[in-house]
Amino acid sequence: MTKLRIAIDGPAGAGKSSVSKLLAERLDLSYIDTGALYRCVAFEMIMNDVALDDERGIRRILADLQITFRMEKGKNRVFLNGRDVTAQIRTEQVGMLASTASALPFVREALFAMQRRYAEKGGVVMEGRDIGTVIMPEADLKIFLTAKPESRADRRMQDIKTAGLEEKPYEDLLEEIRRRDDQDTQRAACPLRPADDAVLLDNSSMSLEETAAYIIDLAEKKWGQGVCRRS
Ligand code: C5P
Repeated sequence: MTKLRIAIDGPAGAGKSSVSKLLAERLDLSYIDTGALYRCVAFEMIMNDVALDDERGIRRILADLQITFRMEKGKNRVFLNGRDVTAQIRTEQVGMLASTASALPFVREALFAMQRRYAEKGGVVMEGRDIGTVIMPEADLKIFLTAKPESRADRRMQDIKTAGLEEKPYEDLLEEIRRRDDQDTQRAACPLRPADDAVLLDNSSMSLEETAAYIIDLAEKKWGQGVCRRS
């Protein structure tokens, strides 16, 4: 495995996860979804009835947090304290609370060390909001992946249908995306923003394949054809 480090940041629904998984597969790298860490914290808060202003309660959750990622049958699964929570952490309720809780500096601090360990190991595609700016500023390639809110709401709608989850009106999804964008970009602690040396990529009118091909092309220009293990 190579020791390349790729950082993929961007707003909710830009396709970071799908693209990052594809890149990891084609470039033979590990894939780390840092949003899942924040989602696990939010999930535990909901399960244990811990409110946002209950700092002691949240700190207790953080102290006990054991998160592992496991590849099973080509799917990335998330285990929280030994329990598979891959599907449960994907709801909008968990996503919104993850976004609110992630603005708390002590939450970010607690998750920082965990993320740094992955970054230091290298050979990784990490996706999130502050990977290129804070978690892995030494990344070899930084992509800031974005798309128009309308395109992201469309994709969310498709994802919900495909996953067989409860469907929601398009306008509600668009509103949620806009609210999450506001929360993520306007918070004081590590707000979502492109790193100075990030490549900005708006993939509103690009497919997943086209987006991945564009990034792989950038990687090949930088490291040569041998970097890819195309399937
Ligand atoms: O990427 P995902 O939608 O799963 O992330 C959930 C929330 O976690 C985001 O809205 C964001 O507020 C927060 N997050 C973060 N920093 C990261 C990854 C996610 O603040 N590196």
